[in-house]
Amino acid sequence: KLKVENIKKNFGDTEVLENVSLSVKEKEFVSILGPSGSGKSTIFNIVSGLLKPDCGTINIDGKDFTGKTGRVSYMYQRDLLLPWKKIIDNVAMPLVLKGEKKKKAREEVNKYFHIFGLEGFEHKYPFQLSGGMKQRAALLRTYMFSQDIMLLDEPFGALDAITRSKMQLWLLDIINDLNASVVFITHDIEEAIFLSDRIYILSDKPAVIKEEIIVELPKKRNKDIITDKKFNELK
Ligand code: ATP
Ligand code: MG
Repeated sequence: KLKVENIKKNFGDTEVLENVSLSVKEKEFVSILGPSGSGKSTIFNIVSGLLKPDCGTINIDGKDFTGKTGRVSYMYQRDLLLPWKKIIDNVAMPLVLKGEKKKKAREEVNKYFHIFGLEGFEHKYPFQLSGGMKQRAALLRTYMFSQDIMLLDEPFGALDAITRSKMQLWLLDIINDLNASVVFITHDIEEAIFLSDRIYILSDKPAVIKEEIIVELPKKRNKDIITDKKFNELK
């Protein structure tokens, strides 16, 4: 699905990515783990096309996307909802930016509010939501941009431990429904193991992929492990 090959990136004299290659298969959940400053977000900036690598290529479904934006959805490290817009309009924003009328965009995003545990909060403003809900709304907005490949840069980083843990359970629960291939950045190894099919570990600067781990947990994606009760507790 996604192939990143031999990416190199310097900022001035600082070598950040020395040689990074990774791949993501269809519907796979892959995590990138690494110390702060090792270049994780830089990888996403390059994969999303916001930054051009000094060398190396980004290939998606067999096509070259090196330096091209618009193909993958990207939730930035500190993704923020616009405080003056209702949740539904925050979430519909990617569609409106693509040229859809507001009413139609609202209709389209509406059906996802249930899956994302945000039903009933469509017409609230971000300040009226809990931290976990805001994070889910930001995730849903990312999903509306592209439902195919999602890059998530520490989406739960800003949350307290309990909310974070609930969000991990929730993400694990809905990930099959989303039909997306996910690349997930975290520096929490337990989170990575819990959520991923595969984990890439980045070395410190300049970054190379130091290790690749295949996580084999029995029935990790079994939806039954999350009961409806637990899901309702999330709200
Ligand atoms: P964290 O876990 O703290 O988010 P990270 O692994 O995501 O860290 P990056 O944000 O990718 O790290 O940054 C890697 C290095 O590249 C840092 O030293 C950073 O200062 C530098 N860097 C990142 N973006 C730029 C830029 N646009 N211009 C110059 N230097 C940059
Ligand atoms: Mg980062």
